[in-house]
Amino acid sequence: MGGGDRQLNFYRLPADEVGRQLGSGKDGLSDAEATERLGQMGPNALDVKRKEPWIVAYAQQFRDLMIVLLLASGLLSFYLGDGQAGTILLVLVFFNTAIGFLQEFKAEKLIESLEKLVVNKARVLRDNELTETASTELVPGDIVYIEAGDSVPADLRLLTEEELSTNDFALTGESQPARKFTHAIQAEVPLAGRHNQCYMGTTVATGHGYGIVIATGMHTELGRIASLSADTGRVRSPLQREMNNIATRLTQGTVVLCAALLPIAIQSGLEVKDALLFAIGFASSIIPQGLPAEINTALAQAASKLARARALVKKLSAVETLGATNVIATDKTGTLTENQMTVEHFLIGKKHYDVSGGGYEPSGSVTDEHGQPLSKSSLRELELFFATAALASNARVNPPDDEHAVWYCLGDPTEGAAVTMAAKAGIDIAALEKSYPELREFPFDSARKRMSSIRHYGSSKNLYVFVKGAPESVLEQCDELWDHGHVRKLARTDRTGILKENDLLAGKAMRNLGFAYRILPAGTDISKLDLETTEQHLTWLGFASMIDPLREEVPAAMLAARQAHIKVSIITGDSAPTARAIAVRAKLTDRPEDIEVVSGEELAALSDTRIISLVRRGGVIFSRVAPEDKLRIVSLVQGSGQVVAVTGDGINDAPALKRADIGVAMGRSGTDVAKQSAEIILLDDSFHTLIGAVQQGRVIYQNIKKATLSCFTSNAAELVVNIASLAAVSTLHIPLAISIMQILAIDLIAELFPIAALGRDKADGDLMHSPPRNSREHILNRRSVADLLWCGLLIGGFAFANYLLFFGRNGIDPQGLASGSHVHMQATALTYLTIVLCQLANILQRRSSKGLFTRYQFHNRSLWIAIGFSLFCVLHIIYNPWIAPYFRSAPLSAADWLYAIAAMAIFIAIREFQRHNRLHHREAVIALHHEAVQKRTA
Ligand code: ADP
Ligand code: MG
Repeated sequence: MGGGDRQLNFYRLPADEVGRQLGSGKDGLSDAEATERLGQMGPNALDVKRKEPWIVAYAQQFRDLMIVLLLASGLLSFYLGDGQAGTILLVLVFFNTAIGFLQEFKAEKLIESLEKLVVNKARVLRDNELTETASTELVPGDIVYIEAGDSVPADLRLLTEEELSTNDFALTGESQPARKFTHAIQAEVPLAGRHNQCYMGTTVATGHGYGIVIATGMHTELGRIASLSADTGRVRSPLQREMNNIATRLTQGTVVLCAALLPIAIQSGLEVKDALLFAIGFASSIIPQGLPAEINTALAQAASKLARARALVKKLSAVETLGATNVIATDKTGTLTENQMTVEHFLIGKKHYDVSGGGYEPSGSVTDEHGQPLSKSSLRELELFFATAALASNARVNPPDDEHAVWYCLGDPTEGAAVTMAAKAGIDIAALEKSYPELREFPFDSARKRMSSIRHYGSSKNLYVFVKGAPESVLEQCDELWDHGHVRKLARTDRTGILKENDLLAGKAMRNLGFAYRILPAGTDISKLDLETTEQHLTWLGFASMIDPLREEVPAAMLAARQAHIKVSIITGDSAPTARAIAVRAKLTDRPEDIEVVSGEELAALSDTRIISLVRRGGVIFSRVAPEDKLRIVSLVQGSGQVVAVTGDGINDAPALKRADIGVAMGRSGTDVAKQSAEIILLDDSFHTLIGAVQQGRVIYQNIKKATLSCFTSNAAELVVNIASLAAVSTLHIPLAISIMQILAIDLIAELFPIAALGRDKADGDLMHSPPRNSREHILNRRSVADLLWCGLLIGGFAFANYLLFFGRNGIDPQGLASGSHVHMQATALTYLTIVLCQLANILQRRSSKGLFTRYQFHNRSLWIAIGFSLFCVLHIIYNPWIAPYFRSAPLSAADWLYAIAAMAIFIAIREFQRHNRLHHREAVIALHHEAVQKRTA
């Protein structure tokens, strides 16, 4: 069973023989048998992750040039007899690589746990009942049902099929969907020719069918390939790439610079060892060692936070892009509404009827215009209408079970509603299905908006076509009208009457579904029928109106989107009045009269520029659109430089989802194809969740920006001190103002934890009420770099001044002072302390746009804990007699602290003043602008 060579031949056997060999009948396996096989075969999952041993993963950390440099200089120090410097360098190497490794490990784990959140479901026949299970539970011999949009859950030998074709590109490289059949193939053919089988990892392009599982998990064709090829690495986000680039370029530039500076340092009297150490210090002052790892963790943490908020991010880059989103094109059904359909009303001839009872439970009754329940005989009179509703639907409604608390719908909710209506009218759905099995089906697609099912029906066993779909698209194909059992010609007044009622009900947010039938001539060859000729000359039966309630949380989310300057439009296949009624309730715009509705036909006539301007304005509904329209809208708006997020659930949405900057698939109602094409999956399908994710995206970007700029500030300061030091050494023979170990103790100890804690900051200022950031903006641009250099100059200047002042205050001549003497170590400790204190102030100032003295400073507890811990380390580095010597530090006096604190206070004052001026300036500019506008309008 399953593996081995036997499965290779299943395509050459007739379908029933395959069933026999796999020990399975046409009722499928029994639950007990399936459980037993699952025990033997193991879960139906690919386990491709070749776990590299942790030591190999850890070794990857040493690919970083900076780490190599540190390691080399550590070893060199030992060789040159400086054990202390050597020890501390090696400890730092270990510390840094361990943190990097742990962060990456954590990020990896987070992402893995996210992947587990998407459980692929399969529809499987067990004990002759079609139920839904996780596809990991499938075993060989199971009979599964697949339909358009599904991904094939295991390798299958097909038993039945209707218009079934699959995209096999992943397996065969064939880009056209392959049409499938069920008969046995006589000859031996390669994989790509076995068209009576479907393979795991491919997706269903059209139609539907039943297949028997012939292989699961690693025994599938995909499993074979997967076990051969290793996991392709993760794609890095633009931000990650930018940071990696900056780090690499800085490192390379620094190496060159150091090589040039080394002779100068030696010439100015430094010993070779000290000169080397100086060069390394110089290098580490420029390179932002911790940054790439910090950004990695920040993004991964953000992804797991989003997952907890029910938005699953498939690519980390999506987190960043989310924050820049300024246009959202959303679906209606399921995203704005519950996708929980209930027929409340139907119209036959000129008579209106109401249906009571909610959900998919078949309890409720049909009443006439006077509120009287229909008698059994009147219901029988309408039987053809209800039978059509049931027979032209594939969905099943099932009673509550272990996983579902109430009656639930397997398949399309629209069809579920139609079936439930029929059940309420007293139709025995199971019996009906059994007596009139489907012979042929032309499945629903959202371009033609209808579907049909062909069956023998009634006592005469005539061949019927049962059709249902959007009322106007069904009515189009009708030329007769059935009115309570009497058939007559469909007059023009009938047509307009029906369409008017249709619009009226749609205006009340109802979704309408029209029904029609046709009797085919006796002796028709079913296999020769085609879609166009079959779905014509129909007889109109009537239509049903179903309500799909608005999701409660949507209006608030719409408001939040508008405040955040995000333009929302609705793209739907539903009719204009229905969509409009829902949009009004969802508060798509502030005032209902601002909503603009564009129908499918109008859209075709609209110019590109008009579409762009409409969508950029927001509040537009595109109704009755075909899938290619959706792609057109998305491409146009994106082409105009907007960052577009698009939601979708169907197979036809895949191109638009792929095209969009952020493709958003529905986790519950979405097809597998849509999920594969998307960057984000909404686990609860809700628009509200999407808006929440966009907001999160903004916060994360803001926090990463704060962290990056904070990190570079201290590097700039260290650079300034180093350059000043080198100048002082070579001209005045004053020893270096800071030791390399101290520099590393800033970058790798003192600032590391506070900067990492910035990742937990909440939104600062009016982030959620301002426009999205420009997606082309870089964190390091001319302005921010100028500001960084200025800060570096300030902090570095203060630190070097404090260093020189130290000698002045104590009456010591620094010229020719022995490097490493007690006073020198005290003086360098003061340089170090000054930079640390200023940097901590700098971090706090950068995190709030309103400055240091705001309540915002107190909301993130972990930041303050981090700062506390950082100061604790600093005290040890200066005062602990066992640690301080390693960093070339010696204890400072209270007076020294006063100098360092004074430097920090001046730094804060200057920066606050600058901020104040900048705000003032901005206000002045805005005032000027207003004045100009007023003048122009006057
Ligand atoms: P949306 O998902 O945006 O509401 P669809 O393209 O799914 O739009 O549906 C468009 C119209 O097609 C619906 O208003 C309904 O009348 C009809 N329709 C939807 N689902 C089915 C179906 N399974 N069979 C027949 N008609 C359908
Ligand atoms: Mg739909």
